[in-house]
Amino acid sequence: MGHRERVQLMVGDWMQRLISPGKGYVPCPRKLQMFVWRLRHESLVVCANLMRRGLKLDQSKCFFCGRAEEDGAHLFIKCKHVKQAWRELGMEEERSRLEEFTSVHAMLDALWGFSEKKRVLVITLWWQWWNIRNEIREGELAPGVTETIRRVRCGALEYAERFVPKKKDRQEGKWRPPSADELKVNLGGAFIPGSSFCGWGAVIRDSTGHIIAARAGRHEQNADAFGAEIQAMAGAVALAADIGAVRVIFETNSQLLAEALDVRKTDSSPYAVVIEDIKLQLKLWFARHRYAHADEVRIP
Ligand SMILES: [Zn+2]
Repeated sequence: MGHRERVQLMVGDWMQRLISPGKGYVPCPRKLQMFVWRLRHESLVVCANLMRRGLKLDQSKCFFCGRAEEDGAHLFIKCKHVKQAWRELGMEEERSRLEEFTSVHAMLDALWGFSEKKRVLVITLWWQWWNIRNEIREGELAPGVTETIRRVRCGALEYAERFVPKKKDRQEGKWRPPSADELKVNLGGAFIPGSSFCGWGAVIRDSTGHIIAARAGRHEQNADAFGAEIQAMAGAVALAADIGAVRVIFETNSQLLAEALDVRKTDSSPYAVVIEDIKLQLKLWFARHRYAHADEVRIP
């Protein structure tokens, strides 16, 4: 077997572990999985790796602090700037544990000892950090740590929704009717990655399960799955207001949406304006409203 085949086999094996549920699986998009793979094989083009390959660089120092030579350990774990990000993420303890390892392999193995949720957070942080590092190299301004961590949390939450396989033994949710003085709106958005629009639908039922109203729509200029859920919520609110609903339960299976609509939090995402408008509409039209989060509710 030639070197090339061996490498392909190795890559295939590692990728397989990453993309198939079970040990080593990372619930995140392929680009992040590839990123981790490159990290593990030290083929990320950090300055230290380039120089090891014999490249002469004008600038080989860390793009964040400008002090230490840039290598993976410094960039992702030891730099004072990335340390601040870890702290903001509430994971300083985990960071210092990873700092003790001298080899990338041992460190990543330790990372695999973390809970899946933490592992995804760390990988998402590194991925964001790597992108910011490349932006700085291109002469762009880096976003603040708070904004970076917001993106990390948002990303990790989205991956959990999209990529974590649903447990089979988890009881499939049954649609539960609202009480007699309430109406329930089930809503959902649909988005196909790569397209520029989304679809959404909303159905209102009463306590007997009868459909009172339903509406579906299409929204142009939509960039992601979260945007689709937001459009669904906006459509659902409008529909409920149109029929004069007073007490309403909005049921969605998007945890991200439920969090975004949490009145105590201010959102700073690109959807902030739409979200604030939805919150305002909710206050304006309904005497009482609440959200229910449902995993795979089967609607009769
Ligand atoms: Zn640094």
